[in-house]
Amino acid sequence: MTEIRLYNTATRSKQLFKPLDPNNVRMYVCGPTVYDRAHLGNARPVIVFDTLYRLLRHVHGPDHVTYVRNFTDVDDKINATAMARRQAGAPGSLEQLVRERSDETIRWYREDMDRLGALRPTHEPRATEYIDQMVALIADLIAKGHAYEAEGHVLFRVRSYAGYGRLSGRSVDDMIAGARVEVAPFKEDPMDFVLWKPSGDDLPGWGSPWGRGRPGWHIECSAMSQELLGTSFDIHGGGNDLQFPHHENEIAQSMCAHPDAGFAQVWMHNEMLQVEGKKMSKSLGNFFTVHDLLAQGVPGEVIRFVFLGTHYRKPMDWTAEKAQGARRTLKKWYAEIALADGRGEVDAGVVASLANDLNTPEAISKLHDLSARQDWHGLRASLRLLGLIGRNVPDWAGDSPVDANTTALIEALLVERAEARRNKDFARADQLRDGFVTAGVIIMDGAEGSTWDLTPEFDKSTLEALK
Ligand code: AMP
Ligand code: ZN
Repeated sequence: MTEIRLYNTATRSKQLFKPLDPNNVRMYVCGPTVYDRAHLGNARPVIVFDTLYRLLRHVHGPDHVTYVRNFTDVDDKINATAMARRQAGAPGSLEQLVRERSDETIRWYREDMDRLGALRPTHEPRATEYIDQMVALIADLIAKGHAYEAEGHVLFRVRSYAGYGRLSGRSVDDMIAGARVEVAPFKEDPMDFVLWKPSGDDLPGWGSPWGRGRPGWHIECSAMSQELLGTSFDIHGGGNDLQFPHHENEIAQSMCAHPDAGFAQVWMHNEMLQVEGKKMSKSLGNFFTVHDLLAQGVPGEVIRFVFLGTHYRKPMDWTAEKAQGARRTLKKWYAEIALADGRGEVDAGVVASLANDLNTPEAISKLHDLSARQDWHGLRASLRLLGLIGRNVPDWAGDSPVDANTTALIEALLVERAEARRNKDFARADQLRDGFVTAGVIIMDGAEGSTWDLTPEFDKSTLEALK
């Protein structure tokens, strides 16, 4: 069986991945807060962990992997939208309007992520459907001395857990110095964080031993992962920004409730996404959603391909230029694999690259190799593993239809041009270069080989005359 190596944030090293139960590999990834459309940065953990999910399914079998990604549907911004709608005269109770807002956001999220080729996780729990489990977990933490009630709030006693800060390798005192901790008179220690807080009558709330209220964000993931994956499981993922406080807090809660279980074995964090070299933000005017891009005609496969071009532990830059390059490469490959029937094997080199801590840029270079070797069956199967093609070549790839003969001819002429250059037959090499221009074929020579596209002036007979 393929050996998978993954970088574990908790040990700061790349290690051999040994699932607790190889018949049921279990992964939890923190999902979105569903108050609005997903922005492009939100797509990064989705694509990264979907690629890991696909690799795990490939290695362990599709029925032997359980992937959970939650929806956080308890949130002030969701409440604010619901209240604004009620004030504008929308019918229904506040609870119904809150539910409507999160329903519509979840629907958008699924539509957008489907278009990015992300498989639906095995379970997509909504926090509001696990309130009982959260209340039980909080009560257990109080009983064990790790949490306390104060003025309708329940707080986690951070100093009661010696391992706090271990994930990020920082001491509690360092973290207090760096963090914006909320000071409140009822807290024993400023570091203590909220497990439960009271809800006013004008806000959604649930009954609890501590009065009507709602859960804190961190307890949601501890309760849902425990319910769906058990007290210990294999992989826990999310963006880098969640390491502290969210993941430190999840660990503290789950480890204090079940000290011997171990909680998540491997912690994985994706780096952040930027746009044209800058942090994406509304004030810089470079903020956009996945839906914005799709609506502008950037295909989901192109977005995914650009993301896979950067290793997940490196900051990634979205640029229009990368999107154009991705479009050209994918179009070329889709034309090539039109000749393949889907019976091919996934390339071992692609699998090996992914098994090496999800080295997706290297996997892409292997796709270029497959194309250069004209292994269309291997290319098709490998594109499929990477989520870059479903059952069929996407429609957009045919927006200037290229027939199989043309593709084969251009590829053959490119091979000939490379040979001519190697043999210092510059007359023939130049003839081919100029011939491509006259025929309306754009050739883009890059470090990873040549890609091509057809201009609207493409003329097949001029191309054929080059033979
Ligand atoms: P949120 O809805 O803000 O809780 O975020 C959902 C997921 O998106 C989390 O895993 C975040 O770490 C991730 N995320 C948010 N912004 C970015 C970004 N700019 N780049 C990469 N991941 C991000
Ligand atoms: Zn979480």
